[in-house]
Amino acid sequence: MQESQPDSNAPARPQLGLGACLAGQSVRYDGESNCANAHVLNILSQFETRTFCPEVGIGLGVPRPPIHLVGETGAVQVLDAAGHQHDYTMALTRFAQHVLESAPMLCAYILVTGSPSCGNHRVKRFSAAGEHIASDQQGMFARALGEYNPLLPCADDEQLTQRAIRKAFVIRAMAYHHWKLLLQRGLTQQCLRDFYCQHRHSIKTEGQDSHRKLQQLIDGFEAQIKGETTGRDFITTLMGALPRIHNLPR
Ligand code: SF4
Repeated sequence: MQESQPDSNAPARPQLGLGACLAGQSVRYDGESNCANAHVLNILSQFETRTFCPEVGIGLGVPRPPIHLVGETGAVQVLDAAGHQHDYTMALTRFAQHVLESAPMLCAYILVTGSPSCGNHRVKRFSAAGEHIASDQQGMFARALGEYNPLLPCADDEQLTQRAIRKAFVIRAMAYHHWKLLLQRGLTQQCLRDFYCQHRHSIKTEGQDSHRKLQQLIDGFEAQIKGETTGRDFITTLMGALPRIHNLPR
C-alpha cells in the first residue's frame, strides 16, 4: 500500500491501534468485553491508544450472531456461523483500509486472540458444513491490515505474553513511530543517517547485509531523484532487519 502521509497535528506519543473489546468496551458478539492481560496493559502505558471494533465498524450490532472463517486455505471467507448466508469478507477487508487511512500515525496494532476478525494466528477455520477443520488462520481484518501495510507491527494479546514477541513488538513499534515523525519533517540524508544510528543496535546480529544496504541507501540519498523511493526502500530494509514478531503467517 502507499505510505499514508501523517497529518501535521499528529500526537507526539506513539499511537497504537487496539481491539476495542480489549479496552473493556462491551462490543463482542455476546455483548461482553475482553480483559487485557498485564503485558498488554504494560505496553499500552507507553502509547496513545486508538480503539477499533471491526465488526461494529461494518455495521453489525451488539449483541450479534457469531461469525466464523469458512473454506479452504487461500479462499477463506467470513460468514455467519448459523447458516453461512451472509458474507462479511469484503466489508472487514475494507474496514482495515479505513482504519489505516483514518489513523495514519498508527505505529502498531494489538489484535485479539482467536477472533475471526481480529485474531492474528491460529484462528479456527470451518468447512462449508460447519465442521472445525483447523486452527491455522489470521482473522480477516488482521490479514487485511498486514496486506495493506506490511510494515505495521501487529500481535495479538496472547502472543504478547511471550517476552521475545513483546520485545520485538515494542522495538518495531518505536522504530516505525520515529519513521512516521521523520516523514512529517521531510527526509534528508542527515536525518536518515541519524535514524539509522538510533536503531542500528536493534538490527539482528545476522543482519550484516541489511547494514550494508542501509548504508548504501543513505550514501546514495542525495543522488536519488526520488527520495521517496529511497525512503521506502530504507524503512522496508530496516523493519525487515529488526527482531521479528514470531508465529505470524506472513
Ligand atoms: S475481537 Fe475485534 S471484532 Fe471482535 S469484539 Fe473485539 S474488537 Fe470487535
